[in-house]
Amino acid sequence: MRKKTAMKREIVMKNLKINLWDLDITNKKLAVISHVNPDADSLGSIMALGLALQKNCQSITICVCDHIPNALSFLPFINTATNYHLTESTQYDICFVLDCADEKRLGESQGILDKSHQIINIDHHVSNGFFGDINSVNPHASSTSEIIYELLIDNNITITPDIATCLYAGIVGDTGNFLYDNTSAQTHYIAGRLKEYDAQSQLVSYHLYQNKSLGSAKFQGYVLSQFESLCGGKVAIFSITLELLQKFNVSIDDIDYVSSIIRDIEGIEVAVVLKEVDSEVTKVSFRSKCDFDVNQLAQKFGGGGHIKASGATIFHEIEQAKKMVQKQLEIEIRR
Ligand code: AMP
Repeated sequence: MRKKTAMKREIVMKNLKINLWDLDITNKKLAVISHVNPDADSLGSIMALGLALQKNCQSITICVCDHIPNALSFLPFINTATNYHLTESTQYDICFVLDCADEKRLGESQGILDKSHQIINIDHHVSNGFFGDINSVNPHASSTSEIIYELLIDNNITITPDIATCLYAGIVGDTGNFLYDNTSAQTHYIAGRLKEYDAQSQLVSYHLYQNKSLGSAKFQGYVLSQFESLCGGKVAIFSITLELLQKFNVSIDDIDYVSSIIRDIEGIEVAVVLKEVDSEVTKVSFRSKCDFDVNQLAQKFGGGGHIKASGATIFHEIEQAKKMVQKQLEIEIRR
């Protein structure tokens, strides 16, 4: 079990080079896990690290704490990842928690933290709470996949074509296909190196951007015709109810692009998408394309993320959640 108080916490903001061999990973029972509502970076990074460790360690479990979106089921060996609930009673020597800003983002899988002797927190969110025993957090990295690439290189671990594809998918996903300003020279360099390691970049582009269902494409048209603008046209807001999903025969995973398409409209500075989870819970996605810090806005509702892409869960029904967000936005935008 993890001795939280006795453990020395090594808090490092960036560029902590973890020496995996000093941690004696070969003989230890390892787990790799990421956050709920997994995206390309969370799944790409856990698969890449998991596959890399498999070659060098006796025991490694790649855990997911939610279902895997269809669009990401192409990731190599993703079917070898286990749902945390199936291994709940297992104790681990080391648990690598990837792309996860805080413990709450593990949802019902938070138990893994107490069942693990040592937590290694590897992340790129500016809101990261340093909950690990070792924290390698670099908010300047485009993605957790970028950090995992450097970890593998620093530890002389071979990057196979499958590992390269997972990392490439994570980088493409979190940079919006190299569009966002988290895309640095280093990001392009790493993407180039991954192609040299035979990352299947076409496969990634196809599944992430060129394989939308017809229902999802029609939904896109509906969103563009129905979104509301607030705060003098600077904010675009759209609510996705369960009824609407049913009407278009789409799942919430099929339409994770909604916040980006309304953000990308001329004059819009902030996009807000509310998603009904049930009658008491609403998930909110915030996006910005200017100086407005949506991480701070999300933190007002107990969430977090990045300056230009953040999220929160509000424990109210969707209409009430919308009013709460609208009120806060009016205060913040006026500042
Ligand atoms: P999403 O809007 O769900 O695509 O999330 C955008 C970004 O915010 C991602 O980097 C998420 O990891 C992060 N995020 C989403 N929800 C939360 C939350 N409740 N707490 C902290 N970070 C979050």
